[in-house]
Amino acid sequence: MHCRKVLELLPKFIENDFSPSERAAVEAHLKECEACRLEFEAMARLVETLESLPPIGVPRSFKEAVMSALPPQKKHSDEK
Ligand SMILES: [Zn+2]
Repeated sequence: MHCRKVLELLPKFIENDFSPSERAAVEAHLKECEACRLEFEAMARLVETLESLPPIGVPRSFKEAVMSALPPQKKHSDEK
């Protein structure tokens, strides 16, 4: 799986919004690719922080806003 594709899928991965085969492919890539793993860990930590906050004042849309404010992902369709 291509790095860009993995980075594109990470938010879904963290939300567990994945088919088992997509999940396996991303997990396999994260094992081999440090850059994507670091990105994943940073994202996971952020989500963890948000989820550990009291539910009041943290509507889902806020979390989504934060997720979409993460470093820009290039929209090239360069999959092979
Ligand atoms: Zn990668």
